[in-house]
Amino acid sequence: MERKPLVLIVEDEKDIARFVELELGAEGYSTETAFDGVTGLSKYRELNPDLVILDLMLPVLDGLEVARRIRKTSNTPIVILTAKDSIQDRVEGLDSGADDYLIKPFSIEELLARVRAHLRRVNPAVTGEVRVADLVMNLDGRELFRGGRRIEVSNKEFELLELLARNPGKVFRRDEIEDKVWPDYQGGSNVVDVYIGYLRRKLEEKGERRLIHTVRSIGYVLREE
Ligand code: CA
Repeated sequence: MERKPLVLIVEDEKDIARFVELELGAEGYSTETAFDGVTGLSKYRELNPDLVILDLMLPVLDGLEVARRIRKTSNTPIVILTAKDSIQDRVEGLDSGADDYLIKPFSIEELLARVRAHLRRVNPAVTGEVRVADLVMNLDGRELFRGGRRIEVSNKEFELLELLARNPGKVFRRDEIEDKVWPDYQGGSNVVDVYIGYLRRKLEEKGERRLIHTVRSIGYVLREE
């Protein structure tokens, strides 16, 4: 069942909020708007949107605090929209857990492109695909491609890669991976390392760059280096 992704816009400048709402609506998204931080947060909790567009300078509760509170309980993508453009503000925005940062005045095309990209990353149901770097996972057909080259993998290899690829940059502990992909195993096995080895061999068969990295004495992470 295809569902329209819901985008929550938290922005006290009503003209901007309305403009973004109209543009997102035209692209097929559902939208909700809040004009201050507290209302934004309560709408967030009530509606569980797929993505949040968040202004920083907001009445009642500022955007940084809204982002921090959302991040305590979820990894919903947050795109910050703001007129503040110093390096310090950018760092704070990203430290608060936001995924992205756009400076006003922004181009609506760029905002829409970033919304699409973040939704694809966290919500592959929207496209049925997970894409990271030159990797494409087709979830419905269970097909895997790297730079257009089709790679045959087993179901477990696919599940393991999907877990990592849905969360690029996130470090997974071995036992976490084992719990998720091999829930029937007792733990303490080396199944994760073995399967990571299989995947690396297949993903790097043509001399491609490494995507699955070992984090010493912790586990593994998928990222472009
Ligand atoms: Ca504002």
